[in-house]
Amino acid sequence: MSKAAAIDIVSVTKTYGATTAVRAVSLKIPAGSYCCLLGPSGCGKSSTLRMIAGHESITSGDIRLGNTVVTDLPPARRGTAMMFQSYALFPHLDVAENVAFSLKMKGVPKAERHKRALEMLRLTHMEEYAARRPAQLSGGQQQRVALARALITDPEALLLDEPLSALDPFLKIRMRAELKKLQSELGITFVHVTHSQEEAMALADMVVVMNDGRIEQAAVPRTVFERPATAFVARFMGDHNVLSGTVTEATEKSATIGMEGGGAFVASGGGRAAGEAADIAIRTDRVRIGEADDPALGFTGTVSNIEYRGSSVKLSFAGPGIDDFTAIVGDTAFFARPIRVGDTVPLAWSAEDAIVLGRLDA
Ligand code: ADP
Repeated sequence: MSKAAAIDIVSVTKTYGATTAVRAVSLKIPAGSYCCLLGPSGCGKSSTLRMIAGHESITSGDIRLGNTVVTDLPPARRGTAMMFQSYALFPHLDVAENVAFSLKMKGVPKAERHKRALEMLRLTHMEEYAARRPAQLSGGQQQRVALARALITDPEALLLDEPLSALDPFLKIRMRAELKKLQSELGITFVHVTHSQEEAMALADMVVVMNDGRIEQAAVPRTVFERPATAFVARFMGDHNVLSGTVTEATEKSATIGMEGGGAFVASGGGRAAGEAADIAIRTDRVRIGEADDPALGFTGTVSNIEYRGSSVKLSFAGPGIDDFTAIVGDTAFFARPIRVGDTVPLAWSAEDAIVLGRLDA
C-alpha cells in the first residue's frame, strides 16, 4: 500500500508555560517498525506523539520523517495520520462518509472516495457497517472506523494515542492482535502511546520507556524486560526486585553493592566505581527458596505476605535492611513445600539474575 518512513527525533523539547513536558529527547524509530511509547501518566508520551503528528508545536529540536524535516509542516503535509483515543467521529455522517472525509476535503470525486472508503473498511473488517452512524456502533467498532479513517490518507506512519484504553479487557486483547497484524500487513511505521507495559511488550518491535520527559530506555521488549537500564525501568516493567546501596567493589564486569542493613550483593554490569550509590535488579521469578549457598547472592528473609495467583504464588519477604522483596514461585513447587507468613527461610539467586542498573544524568 504505502511506503514506510523512519522517524528521527533530534533533541526535541516541549514546554507548556512553566511545565517542561519533553526534555531534549532524541530517538530514531526505524521505518516499518511498531514502536510503543510507554510510561506513567504525565511522562510526555502524548506530547511527543502530538509533535510527530504536528498537532503540537516543537519548542526546540527537530523531527524528520524519512528525509523530510517536518518540524514546521502542518499535520496534513507530514505523511502521518493520527488515531485519537476518543475516535472523534462525526456523529451526523455515516461510517463511509466518516472514513472518506479527508478525501472530500482534498476534492476527490464522490465515487472514487466511496470506493476507497470501502477498501479501508474492508481492511478493518467494517465493510458491512458502511451505512451506519457512529452512534449505532459499539466502542470497538467505532475504533475500527477511526482506524480506517486514519489509514485512508495513505500515511507513511500511523500515530496512535492510547488506542485501546477505552475497550474492555477482552476486546483490548483482540484489537491488540489486530493492530499488530494490520501493521505487519501494511508495513508502515506505527507509533503507539500506552501506559500498559503488557500492551507494549505484546505489540512493539521497539519499546521506549519514558519518565519525566526523558527516555529511560529504548530497546526490543525482551531487552527492556531482561536488562532494564535503570531502576525506573525495572520498577515500571515489574517482576524485578530493585535494591539500592553503595558500591563497595567494582570490576569491569560486575559490582558489589553494600546494603544499609549490612549485606552485600554481587551483580553483573561494569562501569561503576567504589563509593557510588547504585541500584541492582533481581528477577522475582528467579529467586529460589530454601537454598543458601552464597551470601553475595541471597539472604535470609521472613515471609510477610503470600498471594495465591493460580499458576504461581507471590511471596513477600523482609530481610536485613530490605523492606520488601518478592519471589514468584510456581504453584506446584510452592504446594510441595508450603511456607507460612512469619517463617524465616533462606533465599538465593544465580549470578546472572542480578544486574547493576544505570542512572540517568540529571
Ligand atoms: P502523557 O501522555 O505521558 O500522559 P503528556 O505529554 O500528556 O504526558 O503530558 C506531559 C506533561 O505536560 C504533563 O505534566 C502535562 O500536565 C503537561 N501538559 C500536557 N499538555 C499540556 C497543555 N496543553 N498545556 C499545559 N500542560 C500540558
